[in-house]
Amino acid sequence: MANPFAIRALAHPAIAETYPLSTDIYRELYSFFFSSKEFLRWCGSECPWQLHCYGGPGSGKTTLCALVVQHLQAHAENPEVVSAFVQADVLSNETIFLEDFLATVYHQVHAFGRVEYKSVDLFDKYEDACQAGRRSAVRIELLREALHASFSQSAPCFLVMDGIDRCSAALRLLIERELQDLQSLGVRIMVSARLRVFEKPLEATCDTDETDDVLKLFLECSKCEETVLCFPCKERGEVCPICETAEYLIESYDIVNFGIGQIPPQSMRDFVAWDLEKEHGDLGLKSSCHDKPPLSSLGALILRNQDGSTPQSLLERILEQAENNIGIAKLRLDNFHNAQSLEDVESIGDRLPPNIVFQFDTAVRNIETQPASQGDLGLRAIAAAAENNAGVPAANVERWLRPKSSKFPPRSVEDVLQSANGFLISANMEEENIRIYHASFFMYVAQNYNASLLWARSQLHFDRAFRSRTNISTLMSETKIKSPPLFSRVLSFDSSPRSDESDKGSPSILSRSSTTSYFVGARRPTNG
Ligand SMILES: [Zn+2]
Ligand SMILES: [Zn+2]
Repeated sequence: MANPFAIRALAHPAIAETYPLSTDIYRELYSFFFSSKEFLRWCGSECPWQLHCYGGPGSGKTTLCALVVQHLQAHAENPEVVSAFVQADVLSNETIFLEDFLATVYHQVHAFGRVEYKSVDLFDKYEDACQAGRRSAVRIELLREALHASFSQSAPCFLVMDGIDRCSAALRLLIERELQDLQSLGVRIMVSARLRVFEKPLEATCDTDETDDVLKLFLECSKCEETVLCFPCKERGEVCPICETAEYLIESYDIVNFGIGQIPPQSMRDFVAWDLEKEHGDLGLKSSCHDKPPLSSLGALILRNQDGSTPQSLLERILEQAENNIGIAKLRLDNFHNAQSLEDVESIGDRLPPNIVFQFDTAVRNIETQPASQGDLGLRAIAAAAENNAGVPAANVERWLRPKSSKFPPRSVEDVLQSANGFLISANMEEENIRIYHASFFMYVAQNYNASLLWARSQLHFDRAFRSRTNISTLMSETKIKSPPLFSRVLSFDSSPRSDESDKGSPSILSRSSTTSYFVGARRPTNG
C-alpha cells in the first residue's frame, strides 16, 4: 500500500544550501584565515583531518563559511563544494534533520554531474522506501549508501558545514559520524561551531630542528611513535632519526581547531575605518574605501568639532569596545551611523546601547529555552562566571552550582560551556578557567540588565568567604563606563518563578540597522 504521508516536504527548514553574502563585505578581515597554514594545508593536495573553525557569537563564522565556499569554487583544483548552513537550533525532530542533511549532500554531489549507476539505483530504492512508508532507519541507511556510492573512484570534493553546534548534542554526534564516513571516502570537511572541539592541545615540538615552537600541524612517526617532525623539516628531506626513514611519518590527529576570533588588530582597524568612511565620507582616516560618499552632516560636525572626539578617537573607541568581535563592532558602528548629533556620538560609549542589549536579551532567551536542565545550567553558569571578568576556576563554578544540581549534572567543563551556547569560554585548558566570552556581555550580566540571569545568580551557592564581583569596578573604569547600571543591585532576590521582565520590545534603533543577528542563536525581530 502506498504511504499516504510520502509527499515529501522540502528539506528541513533549518538547513540551507547557500548563504547569500552581502555585497559590501570587508573581505580583508578574513585574509588571515585564507593565508593560514591550517587552511592552506586543508585545501591542499592531501589532508587527513577536519578543519573546525570556532568563534563566539558574532565572530563571523557564517560569513567565513560562505567565503570559503566561494574561495574553493574559484580557486580549488576540484571546485566541487557541498555546503550546508544550519540556520536554526535543531533540538527536536532530529532524525528528519539527519535524513534531509544526507539528502541535501546527495543532491549537491549529483548536481556536479557525478552520475554513478549504483548510486542512482540506491537513491531510487530510497525513494521507493519513502513511498512504501518504511521506517526511518531503513530510509537513512539507503540514503547513506546512495551517497557513499557516488564517491567511488571520483576525485574528492569539499563539504563545508556552518553551525553544527546548533544541532542538539545527540544529533551532533550523529552528524559527526556521517562526516567521518564521508571523510574516509576522501571528502574534505570543514565545520564551524561556537566552541572548539574539546581536547587538550598536543604539546608537540619538532625533534629535528632547534626551535621549541609548539606546532599546530606536525608529523609523527607511526613506527617508533617517538619522533615528531614539522612540515618544513619534512620538506627539507629530514627523516625519523630513530627509524631512519620518512615512510611512517603521518599526521596523527583527525581534527584541527582554528579560532577565527584572532583577527589581526590592523585588519580590524582597517575595517572600522573603511566602514566609517563608506558611510560618512572622507573623515581623514585614510581607509581603503574607494567610493567615499560626500561628507555626511554628522561627519562634517565631527570634523568641525575642535575640542571633542576626533574621527581617530572615535575609531579607537569602537575598536576598544569591539574587542576583536566583528558582530559587536558592527552593532557599535550602526549606533554611530544612527547618531544625529555630537551629543549622541559622545554618549555612545557610556552604556550598552539598545541594539546590543536586545541581541543579548534574545540570546539569553534562547539559552533558557533549551531543555530544562540545560537552560537552567546555562543561566547559572553564566551568572557564576560573571563573578569575575577574568573568569572563575571551574572548581568554584562546580561548587556554586552543586546544591541545586538537576538529575543530570554536567559531566565536564564542555557540558557547562555548551549549555551556555557559546557565551562562556574556557581560555585556559590547564586550570579550566570559565569566563564570559566578551566584555560587553560581561557588563550585561554583571550590571544586571537581565532578570533571568539575576534570578540565576540568586540560585548559586557561594562560599561564605567569597568576595563577590571584585573586578567590576576595574572593568568599568577600563571600558570607560560612566553611567549607573540599569537595575540597581538586588542582593536578596527571591526564588519565585522567573518573570518576563526582560522581555522589552525591540528598541526602535533596530529598525534602521542593516546589522543582522551576529549572535548565533539570536532570532531576528519580526517587526523591525
Ligand atoms: Zn620512527
Ligand atoms: Zn622541524
